Amino acid sequence: MNPVGVHALVWVGGWSPQECELAVSSSKAAGYSLIEIPVLDPARIDTAMTRETLRRHGLDAACSLGLAHDTDISSEDPDRVAAGEKLLHRALDVTHDIGAAYLGGVLYSALGRYTTPPSERGRRNAAAVLRELAAAAARAGITLGIEPVNRYESNLVNTAEQALDLIGDVAANNVVVHLDAYHMNIEESDFRAPILRCGDLLGYVHVGESHRGYLGTGSVDLAALFDALAETGYTGPVTFESFSSAVVDPRLSSTLAIWRNLWSDGMDLATSARAEIASHLGRR
Ligand code: MN
Repeated sequence: MNPVGVHALVWVGGWSPQECELAVSSSKAAGYSLIEIPVLDPARIDTAMTRETLRRHGLDAACSLGLAHDTDISSEDPDRVAAGEKLLHRALDVTHDIGAAYLGGVLYSALGRYTTPPSERGRRNAAAVLRELAAAAARAGITLGIEPVNRYESNLVNTAEQALDLIGDVAANNVVVHLDAYHMNIEESDFRAPILRCGDLLGYVHVGESHRGYLGTGSVDLAALFDALAETGYTGPVTFESFSSAVVDPRLSSTLAIWRNLWSDGMDLATSARAEIASHLGRR
């Protein structure tokens, strides 16, 4: 049975105690067993409060982030690499302190548009930082996920194949591929081949639509995606990701180019997506 999760941005844009309570209780009420909490700014997360709220509602958590250009570990600028390394280790501490066992996302570069290709030196910088991060994560019992994103959100890892290459260079056994249907729909040739290619190294999956709105109303081939997950025997988390201008995180929404109001009722959206996911998982 795959744990089924939902991204916190379906509910809230911030992480005050009230927002945490709303996000965690709503995730539970909508039928999810996991909430994904963005840690772009680790200082924003009150870890004791978050851990207690999760415990009270019986919900698991996963953490995710994308670096910024001034914390880009794939840069050739040592100051940016050092700032990114510091941020990643603080995010790892938050992941551990809230009781989560997974930190994924764009851990390897800035989440944002690049106007030049990646450099070999920058790529080596990213692999070196991730190797140290993976060692620290292993000591804390945490798995790291490399999420390929579309070409407008990173220049370094846009496909599953590139994620596998980077993971090969990091050479740690607690680093997995984190695939996202929204990005796959843009960059991969199909949904099946990349999933089978990852095999046992696939560790986390985002389901999101081509327009990042209601699941099942866009051009993502959900049947092909879930069939491939079943074919490869994937038992990891499947987390619904959706964004609308109705719920804004100043750190994340503009970076993801969330300009349109694709939904305004998070509960209706999340309940609908949960049923859509159940229909696909139930077909196995
Ligand atoms: Mn994603």
